[in-house]
Amino acid sequence: MFRLIAILLVSLSVFAQQLTVGTASAAPGQKSNGYIEVPAAADPATRIPVVIVRGARPGPTLAIVSGAHGTEYASIIAVEKLIQKLDPAAISGTVILVPLVNIASFTQKVPHVNPVDGKSMNRYYPGNPNGSQTERASYLITKEVVEKSDHLIDLHGGDLDESLRPYSYWAPVGNARQDAVSKDMVLAFGLDTIIISGDRPKDPNASRYLETTASLRGKASITAEAGHAGTVEPDDVAALVNGSMNVMRYLQMLPGSATPVENPVWIERIDSVTGTGEGIFYPLVKRGMYVQQGMKIGYVTDWFGKTIQEATAPSSGVVLYINAVPSMKKGDTIANIGVVAAKAP
Ligand SMILES: [Zn+2]
Repeated sequence: MFRLIAILLVSLSVFAQQLTVGTASAAPGQKSNGYIEVPAAADPATRIPVVIVRGARPGPTLAIVSGAHGTEYASIIAVEKLIQKLDPAAISGTVILVPLVNIASFTQKVPHVNPVDGKSMNRYYPGNPNGSQTERASYLITKEVVEKSDHLIDLHGGDLDESLRPYSYWAPVGNARQDAVSKDMVLAFGLDTIIISGDRPKDPNASRYLETTASLRGKASITAEAGHAGTVEPDDVAALVNGSMNVMRYLQMLPGSATPVENPVWIERIDSVTGTGEGIFYPLVKRGMYVQQGMKIGYVTDWFGKTIQEATAPSSGVVLYINAVPSMKKGDTIANIGVVAAKAP
């Protein structure tokens, strides 16, 4: 009898050591590939690739997700590189990697949205098991990835039409301890421009963004972006790969210490300039430039070359991104200007 109980306890602890995410499943020291299967409903099924890298030693579970916007290529390639690079033998804890949430966007080269239902795949969290494909996928990512992790990094990059300079987001939730950890994570990530997001949702059941979904569930998390306009530049990919690994060092999941960025530029607010009508856009500034309020940053003409909109900087700050293509219609973003915070938080 005693022996039977002992065997039961041992098998229970072995069971507890197995981590399953979608169809991927790994014991300590193992790496496993699989899919989060999103079943069909009113629209088709999809399957989101997932990789579990489980260190032989215990430690936290970190999720690294990219490709909610399937044409933000630098961020997707960065997670593909991490999948190759991360060795269970070198890691303490577990990394759950999701390189491409929005496969239809990637294969069909459709920016911003999932072409299956026309929805952004970073706006419908925590999702709905009975909704359209984006909502069902978001629901399963919440259950399978967010709830099984202690921390999350959501990676993005400028989309096909965005000429973007690298930056990260720090979104405090009002819990001093958690906010201190997420701040350390964003400093460890190392990008020199950090947006303080104070306007995120507060309701975990209407969290909208992936990182907010994790943050509102008590998991210190960050978002980072690098890449622009369909390119896969080594500098952008390296910034995201090294940033993720530095966060792992900070969390003591990899040996060595992270070197946090010193005196980054903190952005307290983003001011957007949008198109007022249909036409051809011509930029006058580049991503990363600092502009003065009122400065001309671009213009839109009709099909005959007559200027129909002069775009000026609504405030002084840094061009976080500017429209990268001539296409323009009413409501499209011309540029996002980051207003520099008077002092560091
Ligand atoms: Zn994105």
